[in-house]
Amino acid sequence: MIEAGRDVEFIKVGDLVSVPFNIACGRCRNCKERATGVCLSVNPARPGAAYGYVDMGGWVGGQAEYVMVPYADFNLLKFPDKAQAMEKIRDLTCLSDILPTGYHGAVSAGVGTGSIVYVAGAGPVGLACAAASHLLGAACVIVGDLIPERLAQARSFGCETVDVSKSATIAEQIDAIVGAPEVDCAVDCVGFEARGHGKDAVKEAPATVLNSLMEITRAAGALGIPGLYVTGDPGGIDDNAKVGRLSIRIGLGWAKSHVFTTGQCPVMKYNRQLMQAILFGKINIAKAVNVEVITLDDAPRGYRDFDKGAAKKFVLDPHGFVRKAA
Ligand code: ZN
Repeated sequence: MIEAGRDVEFIKVGDLVSVPFNIACGRCRNCKERATGVCLSVNPARPGAAYGYVDMGGWVGGQAEYVMVPYADFNLLKFPDKAQAMEKIRDLTCLSDILPTGYHGAVSAGVGTGSIVYVAGAGPVGLACAAASHLLGAACVIVGDLIPERLAQARSFGCETVDVSKSATIAEQIDAIVGAPEVDCAVDCVGFEARGHGKDAVKEAPATVLNSLMEITRAAGALGIPGLYVTGDPGGIDDNAKVGRLSIRIGLGWAKSHVFTTGQCPVMKYNRQLMQAILFGKINIAKAVNVEVITLDDAPRGYRDFDKGAAKKFVLDPHGFVRKAA
């Protein structure tokens, strides 16, 4: 931290901190219930805010040289020892968003010791969810995607994989791995930008992940849904998709008594514990998501590669701070 406002009491200039992507006031009803992803005070348009993101309260920064953090004492997580933190700084950068988000998906899907887990999507959040599932004690973590490099990245740290572009269904591929066509817990790390399966894999199909997860999740199981769904998508495939109305087969979920947990991750609920798991070597998240540290000027290239399906998590390092540590 380089400068403190006059009301900041506990965080000091020079502290090394992690900034949750959610902005929260710490005083409203939702913050008091630890639902900091839907703070009521920081976005006049609707509950929840974030830095530098459309429709999230107009707060600037996040992918910039500096960011002004409101309610800093509440929002910031201070690393206990700077030198110790710098040794794991590549991993600790994941605490702002993808690691807590993936972990929240796993927790809300009920992942625990011995679980069989299916994670839809091998992007950074999906890979973080898979690594988090291992941390939570899952027996078998299966990751589904259609990009070969991303599936290979999932296998590199002990996951099984399902290639959703194959003609075999997800259930059939899960059956071949675990001996039954279903899993205990499923996590949607894809969201509304999903594409179809098999020969339909090129078409946008915004409800496909949720519907397939209901099919493969055991009755009485739970679905974690950190993947993004929106209230407006001007480029949606039809008038319904344009307002976030999807053809979800809710009857199937109801019949199987599934639990659904949607929404942004309340980062603060998890970031301190995950920081300790990183500092004490219980999770190698930078390796799992394949962190590549780049300059701010290189960000457009990072976005281009990411859109092409690179099996990487690009971390922006505007001051060369992370690269210096490595
Ligand atoms: Zn609040």
